[in-house]
Amino acid sequence: MQYYSTKNKFTNYPLQEAVLKGLPDDNGLFMPVSIPKFTKDFLDHLPHFSLKEIALEISRLFLMDDLPMATIEEIVTRSITFDAPLKKLDDSKYVLELFHGPTLAFKDFGARFMAQLMSCLVKDENRKLTILVATSGDTGSAVASGFLGVPNIEVIILYPSKKVSLLQEKQLTTSGQNITALEIQGTFDDCQHLVKTAFLDTDLRLKYQLSSANSINISRLIPQSFYYVYAFAQVPDKKERIVFSVPSGNFGNLTAGLIAKKMGLPVYHFIASTNINDIVPDYLSSGNYNPRASRQTISNAMDVGNPSNFWRMLDLYEGSFLEMKKDISGFSFDDKQTAMAMREVLSEKNYLLDPHGAVAYLGLSEYQKKNPGTKGIFLETAHPAKFEDVVEKIVNKKVDLPAELESLLSKEKQAKLMTTEYSLFKEYLLNR
Ligand SMILES: *Cc1c(COP(=O)(O)O)cnc(C)c1O
Repeated sequence: MQYYSTKNKFTNYPLQEAVLKGLPDDNGLFMPVSIPKFTKDFLDHLPHFSLKEIALEISRLFLMDDLPMATIEEIVTRSITFDAPLKKLDDSKYVLELFHGPTLAFKDFGARFMAQLMSCLVKDENRKLTILVATSGDTGSAVASGFLGVPNIEVIILYPSKKVSLLQEKQLTTSGQNITALEIQGTFDDCQHLVKTAFLDTDLRLKYQLSSANSINISRLIPQSFYYVYAFAQVPDKKERIVFSVPSGNFGNLTAGLIAKKMGLPVYHFIASTNINDIVPDYLSSGNYNPRASRQTISNAMDVGNPSNFWRMLDLYEGSFLEMKKDISGFSFDDKQTAMAMREVLSEKNYLLDPHGAVAYLGLSEYQKKNPGTKGIFLETAHPAKFEDVVEKIVNKKVDLPAELESLLSKEKQAKLMTTEYSLFKEYLLNR
């Protein structure tokens, strides 16, 4: 399969370049030249398939021109090591739990699959790949966990000192092996600046084969389509008028759902649910795309003011606002509404939502008011324990950490403290 840039449909890049580079030189986003289709037989047998079997079929469809089947199987077996169960909340709503991976968030799907695929793509080269990532917390922990022990790759994570939660810091700094953490005495922007400067530095490029593992890598989208198909497979009875509500920030998750639909999954409608960073809901009602500075909320993984994957969404509809509007409705909610939904779902349905999942629940409820009779699936993208400070205050109840995370807290932090001075960062990289 070849990939083009959303800024120029006539470009062609091989899989290896699209995945290892992450971004095309023209600053567009990579897209596959064609979206493969499910066979009728596969769709008819959906209820009998496990998540892993579905993952294998989607991976085969995308990767079979580039990799042998045994390699594709290895990538799936090593990355999809946890479940994504669908639970019934009431007669019209189901929650898809995407937090059963090692860092308790759906980003584990993308990060783990990307790690395994990258490892296969660099296997034949004699230089290992060095991944530099700047993180404000969550992406870094999914990447640290996803790449841990993966052959042919080392990861260097830069995080802002004292600006990530204790749990996040433990996740970033206690892996060891091929993961190195640098604690930067500055902000997330300083970390990002160091990484960006390093990518342009010819001295470093001589020593290292550098790559980024950012969230717009095409290899993170493919695995995110697995669980839409698997959710569909798990819906009992008639699979009619099924809608998905997706809590969105950078819109990678929703884009993966649109890809699943384009592959032939008969999804009735999508709901783009956001916090007050409502650029896409605003676009869906006005037709104008107005990116703006992001505003801080309690669903902070969705505080995005210029969602990169918007251009991929538009590309899937060949630039047509009207076509996109037929498939997607957008709703936005403030923190007060989000907190109320968390309390309401806990007291009425005995289910504890995290703030991101609560936004998706609200979007679904709003849509179903005007569209009764639809079967709604909303995505719960993180375990509530991941945001325990916020969640405990809202529901006034202690949230228990899953056992895996509890044990993290006793591990010792290993990070190299550094200033924001580029020359020192460079010297460190050249001399290690
Ligand atoms: C990253 C993240 C989101 C937003 O996903 P996008 O693909 O960026 O839209 C939602 N919820 C949680 C918990 C996240 O970590």
